[in-house]
Amino acid sequence: MIQTDLSDVPQRVSTGDLPSLSRVGRLITDAHERYASNDDGIVADYIPALAEADPSWFGISLVGVNGSRHAVGDVDVAFSIQSISKAFMFALMCERYGREELVARIGVNNTGLPFDSVMAVELNDGRPLNPMVNAGAIGTTALVPGENIDERWTIVREGLSAFAGRPLEMSEEVYESETRTNDRNRAIARLVYSYGRMAVDPAEAVEVYTRQCSLMVTADDLAVMGATLADGGVNPITGQRVVSNEASSDTLAVMASCGMYERSGEWLFEIGTPAKSGVSGGIVSIAPGKGATGLFSPRLDFAGNSVRGQHAAAYISCALGFNMFASSPHAREKSSLAH
Ligand code: GLN
Repeated sequence: MIQTDLSDVPQRVSTGDLPSLSRVGRLITDAHERYASNDDGIVADYIPALAEADPSWFGISLVGVNGSRHAVGDVDVAFSIQSISKAFMFALMCERYGREELVARIGVNNTGLPFDSVMAVELNDGRPLNPMVNAGAIGTTALVPGENIDERWTIVREGLSAFAGRPLEMSEEVYESETRTNDRNRAIARLVYSYGRMAVDPAEAVEVYTRQCSLMVTADDLAVMGATLADGGVNPITGQRVVSNEASSDTLAVMASCGMYERSGEWLFEIGTPAKSGVSGGIVSIAPGKGATGLFSPRLDFAGNSVRGQHAAAYISCALGFNMFASSPHAREKSSLAH
């Protein structure tokens, strides 16, 4: 990677506002109504506990960086955070070690392969390539400092809870179910370790990672967590600085390129936001400087992304101006047209 030294250059940020509060509320409700009857996709069952989800659940929550909140549908239903934790763990470790270290150890490029791909590791000399797939996420969790599993787990739980602005609890049921069936993750971690790219016992890294994935959140929590990254690392509800501006923008960049598995490019093309999904049906979609949407509905596409969540996120991105690439001609044209 070309790394340009910009340490002497103050970072400027582009800004923008969400539409008025009443309009945001109406658009969120519209998004829910439009896709509530979509029954495409299937509920994940490779982790047996996930198969118990009610396929009709559908919740959308939006939190602005100014602390404004809107919610519709099943926004209080708790589900396991799964892969969405990967983005926030990357932010926490970026904060702790700095971006160079994370780029060197994990990488920030899309694999183009499924989230649990062994091939991706094998083809790249054991380098996980990015923190949003299992190899890179287990590698990121392996960086959490601590003498033992419980010390590391405490750092993970407290860090993710700070993003949510409330203490998150682990589901024993999901944890046990995933522990019984996560041979593939153990194999991936051991493979990365065999290349000399993991400093701790791979079984311990998988243990902490599995607990991390079993933390229970709601669509509301996802919106607050995402809004914290949208707000330069400050939780807009609690006011707590969770990570630095730099760690936030680095995380958003990796989410934009890698957050939606093999569909990441299509997502960026169609929806145009940094986002992360998880196999329990959650998606967080972020408008940097504005806010974030937490979406939840358990039916998934082939890659593991919530179907209704993707449709609703597309609608919200279009209708609320979340798309980072959308622009319109400068005002001068409008005034010259008017005359
Ligand atoms: N805990 C899940 C796993 O490791 C997370 C996967 C996901 O959400 N895509 O398989």
